[in-house]
Amino acid sequence: MLSVAISTALCAVFFIVGLALIYKGIVWDRSCGRPRCAKCWYLLIGLPELRCPECGWRPTRERDVFKTRRSVSIACIGLLVCALSIAHQVHRHWSGILHAVLPQWKLKEELQIDDFLVRLYEDRWEGTPQQVRVWQDSEQVLVMNGWMLLLGGESRKDKRTIGVGDDITGARL
Ligand SMILES: [Zn+2]
Repeated sequence: MLSVAISTALCAVFFIVGLALIYKGIVWDRSCGRPRCAKCWYLLIGLPELRCPECGWRPTRERDVFKTRRSVSIACIGLLVCALSIAHQVHRHWSGILHAVLPQWKLKEELQIDDFLVRLYEDRWEGTPQQVRVWQDSEQVLVMNGWMLLLGGESRKDKRTIGVGDDITGARL
C-alpha cells in the first residue's frame, strides 16, 4: 500500500509527464526553416518548382511549407496520462471533495405552521443529529442543533401535545 505522499507525488509526476507529452504532440517536429510537404513531410529543397515530388502536393501559400508537424497520437497519450492522474486523485479524495462541495445539512422535511416555516435538516454524513431551522416572514428566527423533531405527529394511544410554556420535564412524549 503506497503512502498518500508517495501516491500524490507519483500522480504529480504523471501529470507533468502527460503535459509534456501533450506539448510534444502539438510541436512534434518544427519546420525550423526547412520547407516541407504538408502532406507527406518530404523535404522540398533544390526543386525547380514548389511541388512535392513524392505526393504531388502544391502549397497555396508560401508559409504552408513551414508548417509544424503534429502528432495527434502522442498528444492523446499525454491527455490520457493527465486524465488518469487527475481521476486517481479525485477517486482517492472523493469523500473529502464531497465534504468540501456539499453542505453539511440536507433538507429532509418542511412544514408551514401559520407564519412559521419549520425546516428539518439532516446531517448529510452522520444522519443524526438534526438541525431545526424556523423561519418567519422569510427571516430565520431560530436554529436548533442536535434535535430530533417529528413533524406531523403520529397516532399513539398515549399521544399528547405540548405547547409553548408547557413544562415537559420528565414527560414521556
Ligand atoms: Zn508530399
